[in-house]
This record gives sequence, C-alpha cells and structure tokens, in this order.
Amino acid sequence: MAMLSLLSACGAVSGGQMERLDPAAGDASPEGLRNTYEVFVYSFRDSDGDGIGDLKGVTEELGYIKDLGFSRIWLSPVCPSPSYHKYDVTDYMAVDPSYGTMDDFDELVSKAHEMDIQIICDFVMNHTSSQHPWFVKACDDIRALPAGAELSDADTAYISRYNFSKEYADGYTALEGTEWYYESRFWSEMPDVNLSNEDVRRSYEEAAAFWLSHGVDGFRLDATTYYCATDSENIEVLSSFNSYVKGIRPDAYIVCEAWTDSSSYISYLSSGVDSMFNFDFSGKSGAVAKTAAGSMSVKTFADQLGAYEERIAAESPGATDAPFYTNHDCARSAGYYSAGDYVSQIKLAGALNLLMSGNAFVYYGEELGMKGSGKDENFRAPMQWSTDPSAEGMCRGPEDMDSVKMPNGSLEEQKDDPLSIMNYYRHALHIRNAFPVISTGRTRTADELCSEKAGAFIREKEGYDPLLIVINNTDTEYVCSLPASYRDYNRLAAVLLTGEDEVTLKGGKLSLPPYGIAFLTKE
Ligand code: CA
Repeated sequence: MAMLSLLSACGAVSGGQMERLDPAAGDASPEGLRNTYEVFVYSFRDSDGDGIGDLKGVTEELGYIKDLGFSRIWLSPVCPSPSYHKYDVTDYMAVDPSYGTMDDFDELVSKAHEMDIQIICDFVMNHTSSQHPWFVKACDDIRALPAGAELSDADTAYISRYNFSKEYADGYTALEGTEWYYESRFWSEMPDVNLSNEDVRRSYEEAAAFWLSHGVDGFRLDATTYYCATDSENIEVLSSFNSYVKGIRPDAYIVCEAWTDSSSYISYLSSGVDSMFNFDFSGKSGAVAKTAAGSMSVKTFADQLGAYEERIAAESPGATDAPFYTNHDCARSAGYYSAGDYVSQIKLAGALNLLMSGNAFVYYGEELGMKGSGKDENFRAPMQWSTDPSAEGMCRGPEDMDSVKMPNGSLEEQKDDPLSIMNYYRHALHIRNAFPVISTGRTRTADELCSEKAGAFIREKEGYDPLLIVINNTDTEYVCSLPASYRDYNRLAAVLLTGEDEVTLKGGKLSLPPYGIAFLTKE
C-alpha cells in the first residue's frame, strides 16, 4: 500500500506514477478471492526446446505471474491426450508426456504454493477422447454384437458409459462398420460420456481425489451445460461432484463453464459450486467490450453489474462472480477495437474486467495485447515473450494456426515501458489487490456522477471502506464537480490512466483524462 500514501487528498496524479505501486501486492483478499491467470499450457512457455509449452515452463514463469498481481493459475488440461489442446483425455490420472511428468506437476504446485499462488486444473467430465480405453472397449463390444442385436444382448459395462443409439440424432456420429451412432456434441473424436452412469461418476471422483492429493486447489469444469439433457440433471451432477470435492477439501475452488444465457447458468450455482463464469460481460459483444468501445455507458455497465451481483447472491449467498474478458475459445480482445485510440480501449477493457467483483480471470497474453481471431488455433498463439520466435522459452503454437501479427509488442518490448499494455494490466491488478473491496464488495451506481461522457459506481461492503470508482470511457477529458452527497469522497486514492495526462481533484472538482479511471475514498 506504500504508493497509495503518495496520493494526496487534493492532488494531481499522472499515469507515469504507476510504477510506484507496491510490487508485493497480489495475495488473496480476506475472503479468499483471487485473481486468476489462465495458462494454455501448449503455447505458454517451453522449457526444453521442443517448441511445446510444458509444466516446467509454467514453473519458470511463476515470478512473472505473481508480479503481475495474480495469485491463482488455471491450467488448461494437462492429462494425456492426442490433441494439442488436450480437451480429449485418454487418462485422467497422469500428465501428458509432452508437458512433462507427475514430478514436474508436483514441483509446479509446490513452488506455486511457496509463492501463495493456487493451481486449479481444467477438469473435462463431459467427454473423453475417442482413444480413451473406455470408449475403445465400448466400441469393441458394440462391434462384437451380431447384426440386429440390441444393447441388452451385450456386455454393457463400457457401452453404457457413453450414449449409443441406433437412431441418428443431432450431435451424434456414426460408428464405422456398425448400425450404431454415439453422442459427440463437440467433435467425432470427443464422445460424450453418460454422466448418469455410476461407474463414470466414481471414476471422475477418483480422478478428482488424485489431483487433490497432488495439491491442486480446485477445478475449472468444462462444458457443464452439455453434461446431460436438462439443466436440472446438469445441476445434480455438479452438486454431487462439488460435495465430493468439498468433502476432501472444503476450501477447494470450483468454477464452471456454461456458455449459455445467464438466466440458465446462474441457476447452476444452486449446486453449491463457487462460481459460474460470467459470459454476459465477456467477449466482443459483452458489457466490458461495449463499455470500453463507448457503445455502452458506464452507468449501464454499473447498473447491469449490480443487478448481476444480486442475481448471484439470490441464487447462492456463498457464491462469487467469475468475471473474465476472454478465454481460449474467444478471439483475442485486442482485435475488438480498430477505430480511434484503440490501444486505450484495449487497456480500459482490461481494467473493466478487473474492476468486477469476485474472482477475476485473465487469459494469458491479454496483458500484452496479443492478437488472434478466426479459427480456435489463432486464439492460442505462442505467448509473446519475445518477437523472436526462436528466443528462449518461445512455443511454436498449434500446427494449424495462421500467421498472427502482434502489433502491440512482446513482453521484452513492453516490460520497461510504463505506458505499455502489460504495465497497465499490472497496475490494474495491483489496485485490485490494494483495495479488497473491489473483489469482495457490491456495486451501487453513482447516478448523479453519470453522464454521457463518463460514469461512476461505488463498491461497498460492511467492514470495508467504500470506494468510489469514476470511469471516463470517452476520448475527451471529463470534468465534474462532485455533488454534495459525494463530497466526502475527498481523497484521490489511486488512478489508472492509459496515457501521461493527469487526474486532478481540487475543491470537489475532478478532472479525468480520456479513458482514465479515478479511485476516491473518504478521508
Ligand atoms: Ca517443451
């Protein structure tokens, strides 16, 4: 908090002062909320020169991740898999040899914990690889059936772990050489499992226990809307898995992907899981990007955020939001903006994501303004440690990736530039850590401070000092006189600026540069 004391009650603060932030900030909030960095292992950091990111590579960069202000890492799947993305698992209790060994995994967890960084693992329960021994055996058993036979004639121990049918239906693939189809919602090589099968349930519990015994701090659950046929069945699966995990480790963190409408996925919190990813605010058409682009007002952003927090609390009082801006399934956000001062919009959007309550997530490389759109592989380009693709640690990226231009520069170029996207993200994360009410509090729109040009909201929670956050999402300076009801927010506690212009607060008059954010507290 050292730098915060540098900001006076009536002062002027410029973006160039951002380096004064306390680099030690980055621990969990008093409620255990953590900033989480999503690492797509294949493309993050290569430790042995084969061009494939690996676990030792992640371990090498724990210092970078910690210094940015994160205290949790979400690892994309690390289990053995024939694909580069590894969402098609062939063995749930091992590490893919291209990523390293179980010893490497244990070392990563141990080093991370020494630095108070938690590790959560991607857990893929909706489907397996078509090469998983369960599916191979199930297909062998189906093929052994005489023509015209029914399942009741077969040994169904493995067959019933999947969803086979003689009727073709949407999302099904024909099993070659048979009259049968199997459910495969995402890809023919990722057969959907039957989660009402008790053997499947027990196997996934065994796998969860295995990773917990290796020290992981929780799970990110993939594709939860596809588990079964209905929301209520999906919630039942989540409830059962959540209880099992919390029975072993009560403070494990479980966050779920349900890429659908929030009116559906918020109900999944009734299962007891900690968080559902906030899809409403994410991506190119979400509230974060719209507000950064100026097509949504700060008032609407704050109103929607407050309402969203209320919906979470109403569904499950212990649950927290999991805001994210992009992930490995989204086009990189730097490509969302093209007109005007697009670098400032990239930065402001990053800040808006990090000013939401709950456990905020950032996808690797967003802090560098990396680019990538079109096919999935392009969203997963090599982390830009350097512009030289042969530099130490650089990955080669997915085989089918297009050549992606990175106009915003590598870490090498950004690290010493106080106005770089990376240093802006770092500053935003450190402000988030310096004011725990940002992650733990609730949002109340400051209506009298909202206009077409800018807006404000208060983040508040009993036991914490309230924080007034004023945001200018336009390309011109915003000047306002704080109305009487806000005059006691008379201390400029921090600023987050995209350029070198100053923020001033004098005699209740606040001036905020384009795309600037001011954090005001009561003296
Ligand atoms: Ca490697």
